[in-house]
Amino acid sequence: MRDVEIDPDEASPYECFECGTIIVAEDNPGTCPDCAGAMRNRWTAIE
Ligand SMILES: [Zn+2]
Repeated sequence: MRDVEIDPDEASPYECFECGTIIVAEDNPGTCPDCAGAMRNRWTAIE
């Protein structure tokens, strides 16, 4: 595990589930501008 500092006030990358588009934003964009797919924060581990 890498020690990565996460600052919620900083922009962070969100990745589209559907097409893999990455958007850097402070808040979750919600849907992908390319395919309207769901976005997820790349820093959020999904188990
Ligand atoms: Zn997409």
